Amino acid sequence: MTSQLNPFEISQRQLDEAAALLGLSPAMHAFLRVPMRELQFTIPVQMDDGNFEIFQAFRVQYNDARGPAKGGIRFHPQETVDTVRALSAWMTWKTSVVDIPLGGSKGGVICDPRSLSTGELERLSRGYMRKVAYFIGPDKDVPAPDVYTTPQIMAWMLDEYEVITGHHLPGVITGKPVPLFGSLGRGDATARGGIYTVREAAKVLSLDLQGAAAAIQGYGNAGQFAHQLGRDLLGLKIVAISDTKGGIYDEKGLDFEAARAWKQETGSVVNFPGAKNITNAELLELPVTVLVPAALEGMITAENAGRIQAKIVAELANGPTTPEADQILFQRGAYVIPDFLCNAGGVTVSYFEQVQNAYNFYWKIEEVYERLDARMTTAFHAVHEMAEARKVHNRLAAYLVAVKRVAEAVATRGWAR
Ligand code: NAD
Repeated sequence: MTSQLNPFEISQRQLDEAAALLGLSPAMHAFLRVPMRELQFTIPVQMDDGNFEIFQAFRVQYNDARGPAKGGIRFHPQETVDTVRALSAWMTWKTSVVDIPLGGSKGGVICDPRSLSTGELERLSRGYMRKVAYFIGPDKDVPAPDVYTTPQIMAWMLDEYEVITGHHLPGVITGKPVPLFGSLGRGDATARGGIYTVREAAKVLSLDLQGAAAAIQGYGNAGQFAHQLGRDLLGLKIVAISDTKGGIYDEKGLDFEAARAWKQETGSVVNFPGAKNITNAELLELPVTVLVPAALEGMITAENAGRIQAKIVAELANGPTTPEADQILFQRGAYVIPDFLCNAGGVTVSYFEQVQNAYNFYWKIEEVYERLDARMTTAFHAVHEMAEARKVHNRLAAYLVAVKRVAEAVATRGWAR
């Protein structure tokens, strides 16, 4: 990754623009520009062959003025402290834009989970929790899953935390399996929340989405559920999907159940019977109504933004669009639903999970959906109205809504003015 695309620098540039428009004082701006606390540590793990491997890991608490910090843990071979910092900043703006009483944080481990056995993965996950147990807690900082971390990993981490503290504290981590007091509806919450915002975007743009073509980049948790729910809730026709190995395209639409089964069977979506193989770059530039980046950062850049044809870009991934690309998409009239609004459904249902854990009383799935829809719809319109009022692109509008709330909390606490 070039320094031009360093995600933390991108997150700071985005904040700088919002700070100028909000007229934040230099002290407030400086305070919101960097994380409040960071932990960098090593996790020694005994591998199945008896040898030890040392993994580098991070936990960054960006800001907790509005409540306990909240953010997932990513296991990825290209993880860097700057990626974790950027993601922790975006978590801060995300919890704020959907107005839930939480701050922002993020964690990461440099590792390739696909090359680890189940036993090694469990020892790594428990090792992570042993190192951060004193730093986090239900009323301090609450982790969750992210790229390549799963409900099972959350369960191992919860168990380790409870063994260390000697208490049942399921609210220390979210995205847990339902039998271990996860929330119903957490699995597809990110995609579902994003699909609700696409529905609202179509309303303000007067677009009919029934049968409209959509393309999804990334076919993991977020991407697969976007395929299913895009079809079920909006009637979208998903014509292209992709993963690290490449993409596939069928103008008649890709069947969700068959595509998911193919991915599970073969490890990739490529070579799906009846579809044409395409590259990830080609997928982004298809003539579709809705484009859903659901992979990683830095996919839509100054280089390719001019060729993106989608009317709505629904960013389920964190940080898929660079600031230069934002300007280009705005000028082209593409309606971008920015990442920390579009993918806030996951953290919103994580918050519901914490609430249910705290009350030790669990909701029906319909209650989860209804409350998620209300939060996402309210947040979408707050951002849309801000964009209209200030004549700025949606990402900047989302920053204006979110940063203002965080700055108010920081000022009211007397941390900075
Ligand atoms: P995941 O690990 O389940 O899936 C990631 C997918 O992206 C995989 O299919 C992988 O093959 C694909 N991918 C990776 N690099 C790619 C590349 N260069 N080109 C094309 N495809 C690529 O992860 P996920 O949970 O679905 O997360 C995806 C994105 O959504 C991330 O940016 C994550 O931070 C964001 N997100 C996820 C959640 C959640 O609840 N899962 C919540 C908020 C944001």
